[in-house]
Amino acid sequence: MTPTTTERNGMDARVVPLSRKPRRGDAGEASRTACIRTFGCQMNVHDSDRMRRMLLDAGYAEVQRYEDADLVILNTCYVRENAVNRIRGHLGELNRLRREGRVKKIALTGCIGASDEATELQEQYGIDLVLGTHNTYELAEFIGLPTMEETYTPELPGVEGQKSAFVTIMTGCNYRCSYCVVPRVRGRMVCRPLENVLGEVRRLVRSGTNYVTLLGQTVDAWRHEGRRFCDLLEAVAEEAPRVWFTTSHPSNMEDRTLRAIGERETIVKKLHLPVQSGSDRMLRMMHRGYKAERYRRKIEVFREHVPDGTLSTDIIVGHPGETESDHEATLKLIEDCQFDSAYIFKFSPRRGTEAAGMQDVVPPDVVQRRFLEVLRAVEQSAFRRNQRKVGGVEEVYIRHGRADSGRAVGETWSGHAVHVDTDAAPGEYVRACIEAAGPHVLYAGRPL
Ligand code: SAH
Ligand code: SF4
Repeated sequence: MTPTTTERNGMDARVVPLSRKPRRGDAGEASRTACIRTFGCQMNVHDSDRMRRMLLDAGYAEVQRYEDADLVILNTCYVRENAVNRIRGHLGELNRLRREGRVKKIALTGCIGASDEATELQEQYGIDLVLGTHNTYELAEFIGLPTMEETYTPELPGVEGQKSAFVTIMTGCNYRCSYCVVPRVRGRMVCRPLENVLGEVRRLVRSGTNYVTLLGQTVDAWRHEGRRFCDLLEAVAEEAPRVWFTTSHPSNMEDRTLRAIGERETIVKKLHLPVQSGSDRMLRMMHRGYKAERYRRKIEVFREHVPDGTLSTDIIVGHPGETESDHEATLKLIEDCQFDSAYIFKFSPRRGTEAAGMQDVVPPDVVQRRFLEVLRAVEQSAFRRNQRKVGGVEEVYIRHGRADSGRAVGETWSGHAVHVDTDAAPGEYVRACIEAAGPHVLYAGRPL
């Protein structure tokens, strides 16, 4: 399975308040905002979640109103008869806002994006980007992220509806990783006060949310008035029936937090801890602030306290200066850590970052080979680990209801993504036996 850091904000959904209102020019350079409108079925909601993760990774803040957004994405549905007319209404309004200079870019995705009418709509309304359902990942390049077709997989368990929500606990980032544009576009870390976060969590839970994901670029770095991330996590775990958090940074990750994942019943037993490289030389060049040994130690603690948990990571291949022996060190680390999934990125130079100006660029064919080697190594370990779940009975939280003839998509307490043969609605739990496993997902039959 793969992790997600998304939250739904559809036509009828709410927005997650940020710790401060995003403003243009916040971080020296323009701080970018995006608004996603989701029309239609659960699959569209799921696709919106994937796009939301990309936007977050690219340094966008999510807003609810068109007029606050630099980029508006209409993720559309083609099922209802008046769907296109409805979208025309929205496109007309967006065009007006763009003329007034309030909205900068408009993207049309989803089923209408894939339809024959898309070309006509694009011409008529001057849409900047049209994507179908099969190539949603191309949004990544549009917003300045590396190409990532293999990494934002359709298995990504999204978050939808009123049942699950993301709560932003911090914005910005105080690191200066050589390759990363986030600090430039989002500025330095700003932590949201604990009471403020708890207040939102309580409100969400009262209104029926039963899964809360705490969100930030380096959540473990969260500090406020002497309290640390683990204090916040434990407080939220008292309030919400199901809790997760992302993204963690190895330098800030405390053993106490790893123990809490194992001990607290309401925390989902999965950890997303980006490593980027297994080579100390590369980690130094990237300014990550830790050595591979520290990372391994953190994983040991996680495995000790959360034996059934899932572990995912981010890896960059082909950062300038990466040698064959650096790459070997990454493969070795993957073997040692036995990840359950990973986002694997080919290095892509981002304007204004230190790495963009570095010499010693790795040739594309070498990057491609290393990329596939890393992918294969992760998939092997993920597949092996998933196989161990086969035959077991799991309590599964339903994240996406069944679409057409397909299965519902859920998540075990261990953080595995499961396809289940059930009509249960998002937010419900079912008990089901795991019948099969692939490298990305488990498969369960009818609930018991
Ligand atoms: N704050 C998180 C993640 C930030 S962006 C962290 O520090 O781990 C998400 C991921 O995108 C990163 O972990 C990194 O693996 C990848 N990434 C960011 N910039 C990149 C670039 N220029 N080229 C390739 N991958 C990149
Ligand atoms: Fe980017 Fe590094 Fe900050 Fe993550 S920790 S957001 S990779 S600068």
